[in-house]
Amino acid sequence: MRHHPARLIAKKRDGGTLSSDEVQDLVAGVVDGSLGDAQLGAFLMAVCCNGMTPEETAALTLSMRDSGRVLNHDHIAKKKIDKHSTGGVGDKVSLLLAPLVAAAGVAVPMVSGRGLGHTGGTIDKLASMPGYRTDLSLARFGEVLDQCGYAMLSPSKEIAPADARMYATRDISGTVESIPLITSSILSKKLAEGIDGLVMDVKFGRASFMQQEEDATALMEGLVATGRAAGIEMSALLTDMDHPLGLAIGNSLEVLEVIQALDGNCPADLREVTMALAVEMLLLAGIAPDAETAETTLQQLWRDGVVRQVFRDNLELQGGDVRVIDDPSLLGRAAHVVPVEALKSGFVTDVDPLALGHVVVDLGGGRRQPADEVDPVVGILLRKTLGDEVRTGDVIAFVHASTDLAARDAAHAVLEAMTIGRERKKRRPLIKKRLA
Ligand code: URA
Repeated sequence: MRHHPARLIAKKRDGGTLSSDEVQDLVAGVVDGSLGDAQLGAFLMAVCCNGMTPEETAALTLSMRDSGRVLNHDHIAKKKIDKHSTGGVGDKVSLLLAPLVAAAGVAVPMVSGRGLGHTGGTIDKLASMPGYRTDLSLARFGEVLDQCGYAMLSPSKEIAPADARMYATRDISGTVESIPLITSSILSKKLAEGIDGLVMDVKFGRASFMQQEEDATALMEGLVATGRAAGIEMSALLTDMDHPLGLAIGNSLEVLEVIQALDGNCPADLREVTMALAVEMLLLAGIAPDAETAETTLQQLWRDGVVRQVFRDNLELQGGDVRVIDDPSLLGRAAHVVPVEALKSGFVTDVDPLALGHVVVDLGGGRRQPADEVDPVVGILLRKTLGDEVRTGDVIAFVHASTDLAARDAAHAVLEAMTIGRERKKRRPLIKKRLA
C-alpha cells in the first residue's frame, strides 16, 4: 500500500528525509494522477525550501527515470555517451559535437529539448533543416544510432513522463530554481536514453540558468554525484555564458554556422567548447588514454571531413535534405536582412547575450509560451564580437527578420546590447572548471 501523500509532504515540509520507497510513491502519484496539482505544488515547494539529501535526489531521479521507457542499446557494442548543456545563447555545440564524437567511435543517443525563453533548443535548430525529423519512434532512434553513430530525438511522452508534469508545475509555482529538482529533471531524461556516461556542460554568466559561479558549481557537483549514484560515468565542465557562443543566434543561422564549421571555418570559442566536451566524452568512453590524444584524434577527423560525412549520414537517416550541406541557401533566408552599424569608433567591450537572446525571441525565433511556433530563419549574425576594433559606420551585425519593422526594432536593440568603448577587453576563460 502506498504512503499517504499528505504525510510525506508534511514530512518534507518539516525538514525530514524521505526514504526511497516514499519518494517512489510520490512519483507514482505524479504519473497516475493520484497526487493532485495542489499536492504536487506543495511537495515541490517543500523540496525547494528544504532541499534533499544526495540519497533522496538519487531516489527521485531514478523514480522519474523509471516512470517511462528506459532505452537499451545493448545491440550496439560501442560505449553510449551523451552531453547535456544547461542552455545558453548561440549554443549550437550539440549539432557539431554529436557527429564529431560519433566519428571517433562513440554512440551518442541524444534526446534534446526545444528552446524556451531566451535559450535556444537543439531540436528547434535541427528542425530548421528542410525535412529533418526528430519525432522518431524509439525503435527508429535505435536504428539511426546504430547506422551513423548518433541520433537526435525530441522529448517523447514515453521518456520520463513524470518530469513533464513536474516541470510544468515548477514553471508556474516558483520552484524552478531548486538544485535537487533541476538535477532529477535533467538526469531522469538522460538516464532513460540508455547511456553509459554523460558529460555535463554547466553554464554560468548572464544568459545562463544559474548566473552565479557558486550556484552553477553547486549544480555541477549535484549532477555529477547523482549521475554516479545512478550508475553512470560522469564528468562536467563549467563554461562561460556571459557572451554568446559563436557569431550566429537563431535557428537556421546557427545551422549555417555549424555547416561552415564542419568545413573548417569555426569561430574559436565554439571550437574550444565543442572540443573540450568531445575530449571528455572520449575519455569517458575509454577511447583515448588522455586528453591530448583525444584532441589529436578529433582534430584529424574534423580536418579530414569524416565529421562532415557523419553529419551528412545522420541528416539523410533523419529525413533531411542533404543538399543543404553543399548549398546552405536551401535553409531559406529571412525576408528582411538589415545591417547594424557602429555609431562610434573603438573596441567592442560587451556583447550582452541575454539581451540578444530576447531580441531573437522578439523576432519570432524563440518561444514565449510552450505552444508558440518558431520562425526558423530569423535571428542575428554578429560581424564583430568582444575585443574587435570597429570604426563608425562599420557593420557590427546583421538582423534577419520577417518584417521591416521587426528588423528595425531589433537593430536598435542589438546596438544597445553591444557596447563600444576605448579599451580592448578579452573574454574571460571559456572553461572555468572541470569535475571528473
Ligand atoms: N533542464 C531540464 O530539463 N530541467 C530543468 O529543471 C532545468 C533544465
